[in-house]
Amino acid sequence: MPELPEVETMRRGIQPIVGCRIRSVSRTPCERRPIQITPAIELIHQRVRGKTIASIGRRGKRVLIQLDDQQTIVIEPRMTGLVLLVAPPTTEHLRLRISLAGGSSNELLFWDRRGLGTVRLLSAEEASQWLGEARIGRDALEITTEQLREQLASSRRAIKVALLDQKHVAGIGNLYAAEILHLAGVDPRTRCDRLTKPQWQRIHGATLTVLNDAILHEGSTLSDGTYRNALNQDGGYQNQHRVYDREGQPCGKCSVGTIRRIVQAQRSTFFCPVCQRKSGVYASGKRVT
Ligand SMILES: [Zn+2]
Repeated sequence: MPELPEVETMRRGIQPIVGCRIRSVSRTPCERRPIQITPAIELIHQRVRGKTIASIGRRGKRVLIQLDDQQTIVIEPRMTGLVLLVAPPTTEHLRLRISLAGGSSNELLFWDRRGLGTVRLLSAEEASQWLGEARIGRDALEITTEQLREQLASSRRAIKVALLDQKHVAGIGNLYAAEILHLAGVDPRTRCDRLTKPQWQRIHGATLTVLNDAILHEGSTLSDGTYRNALNQDGGYQNQHRVYDREGQPCGKCSVGTIRRIVQAQRSTFFCPVCQRKSGVYASGKRVT
């Protein structure tokens, strides 16, 4: 968290800065451990001062601020980062300020409570390396069913764990992986190499449905309240969750099952044992019928 829908909401939310000229880039006074900014902030400031923001992009879970001279500022929110056009939730966790001129916004802020987010300035050449498909898989909204299958179908890992691997498909995290597999009716423990073609089709279709729906709701703001859009407002998709963080509650899809929580690769997985019925072989190697 934030995952693709939240980062896409950030991307859309900061569109008003397109066409603005960068006046300065600076770290804000912050007593917390400094976030990782590469190269040094003074160098970033020198390289981007006076440049115009040409477009705002997204690569997986990163926001890309593309400048008119082909440089790109890459902001990776990681756990708790936010990009904001308005006053942040707290001043003590404010990390970076990009002062702007010539448009409707005077500044873009990067706020990060836990401070695991990163900011990186890339040249055009560095961007093609850092953001290329050798390092980051195809976007979850752009990948086809066949490409998804090609990427994962030879893996012996559980499908839920494999969907989180950004090298194969970019943008899906723990929350949306659970929601996608529930909508697809696939047991999260099923080994990738045992999934059938119809199951891959259902997973792909559910990926598009869940992620696009979450974008329409501007992402999920969980009970910790951390995630906010660029105007410091809550998302709304948390009210649509079917399984995530709903252990012990009845399944809204089949009305029969009770949502269970298990742990896969040190992360919680939520699923309905009735409509995500066991089939095939689990990643543990145990055969079930
Ligand atoms: Zn169910």
